[in-house]
Amino acid sequence: MPFTSNVDGQFQKAGFAEDRIYECHGSIHHLQCSSCQVPIYSAEGIEVPVDRERFVALDMPLCSSCGAVARPNILMFGDWGWDSSRSDAQSVQMDVFVQRVQSSGQKLVIIEIGAGEHIPTVRHLSEEMARGLEGFVVRINPRDAPIDERLGVGLAMGGATGISKILL
Ligand SMILES: [Zn+2]
Repeated sequence: MPFTSNVDGQFQKAGFAEDRIYECHGSIHHLQCSSCQVPIYSAEGIEVPVDRERFVALDMPLCSSCGAVARPNILMFGDWGWDSSRSDAQSVQMDVFVQRVQSSGQKLVIIEIGAGEHIPTVRHLSEEMARGLEGFVVRINPRDAPIDERLGVGLAMGGATGISKILL
């Protein structure tokens, strides 16, 4: 089950089922109201015209409920207005997955790709799960590959190269 701090929807694009992805910082493909509590909704079909010379949005989507500006449902720095309900629901699915792994008695292999030390949310979860579930982390990262050898192995390379080496 993919866990990602990216907000670009690449796991959906790669074919993973929507209900098997945990996007801990939200998704740019979903909108929320900047004012009212209308439920998060898909941004599909909504275009934001941009003046590319000035890098300014010329028009913003509006909330269909109250008319205020809608915003991406992504967690930004210092963001106290993010609606985490969609990510919270995904988190529950992750918990179900973890419980299934625990009850099966199988060992978990965590393939962590491109999770740097600057915002270490993903790295911390990988290590926490490896400790808690006696799992093993394969950390693929060209700059920040080191990992405690009791938890896993680091591959100092890009994601595509690392995956291709695992598949060999
Ligand atoms: Zn609204």
